Amino acid sequence: MKFDPATNIQKLKQFGEFGDVNPSVTDSATFTFMQAKTMTDTFHGDAEGCFLYSRHWNPSNKYLADALAAMEGTEMGWVTGSGMGAITTAILGICKAGDHIISSMTTYGGTYAFMQNWLPRFNIEVTFLNITDLEAVKKAIKPNTKMIYTETMTNPLLQISDVPELAKIAKSNQLKLVVDNTFTPMIFAPAQLGADVVVYSLTKFVNGKNDCVAGAICADSEFINSLIDVNSGTAMLLGPVLDPYRSSSILKNLHTLHIRMKQHSHNAMYLAQKFKEVGLKFYYPGMPDFKGHDLMKSMMHPDFGFGGMIAIDMETSEKANKLMELMELEDVGYLAVSLGYFKTLFSNSGKSTSSEVPEDIQKVMGLSEGLVRFSVGLDHDIESSWQRINKCLQAL
Ligand code: PLP
Repeated sequence: MKFDPATNIQKLKQFGEFGDVNPSVTDSATFTFMQAKTMTDTFHGDAEGCFLYSRHWNPSNKYLADALAAMEGTEMGWVTGSGMGAITTAILGICKAGDHIISSMTTYGGTYAFMQNWLPRFNIEVTFLNITDLEAVKKAIKPNTKMIYTETMTNPLLQISDVPELAKIAKSNQLKLVVDNTFTPMIFAPAQLGADVVVYSLTKFVNGKNDCVAGAICADSEFINSLIDVNSGTAMLLGPVLDPYRSSSILKNLHTLHIRMKQHSHNAMYLAQKFKEVGLKFYYPGMPDFKGHDLMKSMMHPDFGFGGMIAIDMETSEKANKLMELMELEDVGYLAVSLGYFKTLFSNSGKSTSSEVPEDIQKVMGLSEGLVRFSVGLDHDIESSWQRINKCLQAL
């Protein structure tokens, strides 16, 4: 039977202590013990079901982490205060000074900046490459390589990473494959395709409300437990933990994710077809002539479509800016960074979420200065949204 992330979440039975259908929020930093020995055992990870301190585990965080682990089919999850908290914790949990990482050149700008500008301070070296070029990935492996890092659907060019093949390369060279699945929850289950660690910005589709930033790491118990080890765990010692109130609100939103993803994908596909009809240059993996289309089909859960992200190339940033300003006035959505919201959001990637990537590298990536990235909203009447977009295009 096909791996079904939505049903895995639906099947969970998570109650509060009074039978409350939404688990109670545990707003406590610390937890009391009746016996001192149990506290000591908890410190050593030897006491089942006990909570010690909320930087380590909090029951509300555990409910959300368990639900995300169910969605990914991993043994465990751990939730962080932002997507960057998840990404940096996972990377620093795997790599030490002197190690080498192979990363997709197209990644979220913050991830790129962390790897390019911050990791060298700790003598961790990163090779950025076109992650769809598997031969280049193999060739880049060195004796000190520890990790291959990519996004299932890359930001902002929507390239599709071949997770099963990258996993084979990683396994045969004892590397960890870390995959950011922020753009495509439910659509892809990277751990089922062979990824060792899946990271998320929950800020985006998973939460879907733009009311907070949050992140998650899903992996096997050995890795998650290593992150929260009281003596050496990167998460425990750097402390990027999520607030339990937020875990509770994100958990409720997670339960509607499967329906939202279908609608985001439906609307983006509708716009892609219209963009094609009017002859725009655009990127959408749902189109048969898109480079990673067949690969995506082989990896995706078909019920959730090709995702809510689409990008059009207006060639110059002046044209891109004009279009975005007009679209905001026409109520197409908001000129704003981020994604996965119920309203359509659009931004000029090169000047915003990928601005950390130097312009010469943007060129190598193939990122046009006029790229307008859309996170298509949950519009009920997408036909009228298209008419308004088209009006703006005509007015340029
Ligand atoms: N990963 C991707 C693909 C993103 O687009 C973003 C943010 O835009 C992040 C990670 C970082 O997430 P956060 O803003 O929650 O730290």
